[in-house]
Amino acid sequence: MKREFSPATTLYCLIGNPVSHSKSPAMMNAAFQAMGIDAVYLAFLVPDKEVGSVLNALKTINVGGINVTAPHKERVIEFLDELSPTAELSNAVNTIVPAGDKFLGHNTDGVGLVSAIKAELSIAVSRARILIIGAGGAARGVIFSIAKEKPHTLTIANRTIDKAKFLKDKLKAEFQSANDVNGIKTIKAISLDQNLINSEIDQFDIIINTTALPISPAISPVKADETTTSPKIDFLGLNLTNMKAGALFYDLNYGKGNGDIARVFKENGIIYSDGLTMLLHQGTHAFSLWTGQTPPLEAMKDALGLG
Ligand code: NAP
Repeated sequence: MKREFSPATTLYCLIGNPVSHSKSPAMMNAAFQAMGIDAVYLAFLVPDKEVGSVLNALKTINVGGINVTAPHKERVIEFLDELSPTAELSNAVNTIVPAGDKFLGHNTDGVGLVSAIKAELSIAVSRARILIIGAGGAARGVIFSIAKEKPHTLTIANRTIDKAKFLKDKLKAEFQSANDVNGIKTIKAISLDQNLINSEIDQFDIIINTTALPISPAISPVKADETTTSPKIDFLGLNLTNMKAGALFYDLNYGKGNGDIARVFKENGIIYSDGLTMLLHQGTHAFSLWTGQTPPLEAMKDALGLG
């Protein structure tokens, strides 16, 4: 169906650098169209030094809502009027909601990831043994929502151990009592120690890659033959193929994987998802915040090729 725009059409947008890879415009425009909302969603490449002036301009023209992607999720905060508790905790904003003359900062990445794991993959986060790889902005954005689900254990592994420790301390401070952090048995911060993690990789129910390093290509050899054993997925020195059957490997990155990765995970009985399902659900939560309406899930899925 052809879309009509008018002087009354409301602008929504994504700001980041880069933005050319983003599937948010396709997803959000499909959502507005499915709901018959007179709005358009565009992606704007915004250099770091222009973040403030772009936000001011968007406020002046009564933007309907803004998504924020890397590297501006932290930078935008100084230009906002209020933060939601989750945005405050994670010190990162991915959704800006205009309210009168104010801009309110939210973070829907965490609820998006949890919804993706539960609704799209039918996997329980509660009571799961979870390993988070990375402790950067994306990890900060998702970890508090994961902790709220009361996993059994939460281990944060990062190349720079201090950043993992910082997150662990923040979680413990937020959820109090060190022995029973929101029902979580243990919260650990470890360095990205390949030997240590490989020795217990089959203990985790869920492993989440929050680094910007895609796990593909990390497969060797691509096809097993008579002279080799089964192919394995080696990511940062971690042998993911040794995860237990039924466990989930979730990669926050999307659009970078390949069919071989999915095939090898499947052959080993490991559930694998890239970040497209999280993009979908962080988007449905943003849509609700902006419009107050129930998001058209199927139309958004179709736009992402998840239908
Ligand atoms: P970031 O703040 O730059 O953090 C990067 C993380 O990767 C840090 O923990 C860093 O470790 C680690 N790292 C980088 N290079 C490494 C290496 N060579 N070896 C080991 N560790 C390495 O990035 P971010 O903002 O968290 O974003 C991460 C990814 O998440 C991006 O690709 C983003 O697109 C994706 N994301 C996806 C969604 C979605 O909806 N699907 C939402 C949000 C983010 P150090 O601390 O040691 O440097």
